[in-house]
Amino acid sequence: MSLSEIQSRIAAAEEAAGRAPGSVSLIAVSKMQPDDVVEDVLRAGHRMFGENRVQEAAGKWPRFRETYDGIELHIIGPLQSNKVRQAMELAQAIHSIDRPKLAGAIARIAQETGACPDLFIQVNTGEEPQKAGVLPSEADAFVAECRGLDLPVRGLMCIPPVEEEPTLHFALLAKIAERNGLPGLSMGMSGDFEQAIRQGATHVRVGSAIFGARDTH
Ligand SMILES: *Cc1c(COP(=O)(O)O)cnc(C)c1O
Repeated sequence: MSLSEIQSRIAAAEEAAGRAPGSVSLIAVSKMQPDDVVEDVLRAGHRMFGENRVQEAAGKWPRFRETYDGIELHIIGPLQSNKVRQAMELAQAIHSIDRPKLAGAIARIAQETGACPDLFIQVNTGEEPQKAGVLPSEADAFVAECRGLDLPVRGLMCIPPVEEEPTLHFALLAKIAERNGLPGLSMGMSGDFEQAIRQGATHVRVGSAIFGARDTH
């Protein structure tokens, strides 16, 4: 478990970028990790976690919440409309808002319950056909549409193409966020979180560098 190592690297990257200590939140991505390694990180005092799939999160986190207070859960993977209610009950933030239908479903449930997680709009900065997210050219309009629905949009999220220099994608996301007055930037994973911090990330999503390689079976 190298939680403390990642925390030190985040602190060093904040300092190198001239950013305030603690300005970057670490989301420990626990998807497909065995319970005992997740529990090591909980025992070390960390409380902010990310999960890709609602189903997996629902099978894991209510149990941990019986033992550990203050857990903050972020849903970071693609969200199907029929899982929205469950996601909103479980999570304090959803990072994968990427289409009007999803925004509409969240708005209806938020109206009904009076509560809504913090939302991040996913932008497909590499314009990859297989990847979720709104296109950069559609982002401003979609942000406005979500705001029109009174949704609590906190920021933007991206996953750069694996073969490309991530810094360009982080810079593009930061530019779109800035012109839309959005403070949150969910960007940077195990291999590139320091670059993301240099470009202004407020939330880095780090999995394998904390927990080790995932069991992909
Ligand atoms: C799995 C995942 C991560 C973490 O990836 P690592 O390379 O293990 O740090 C971050 N963001 C999303 C959306 C993911 O699905």
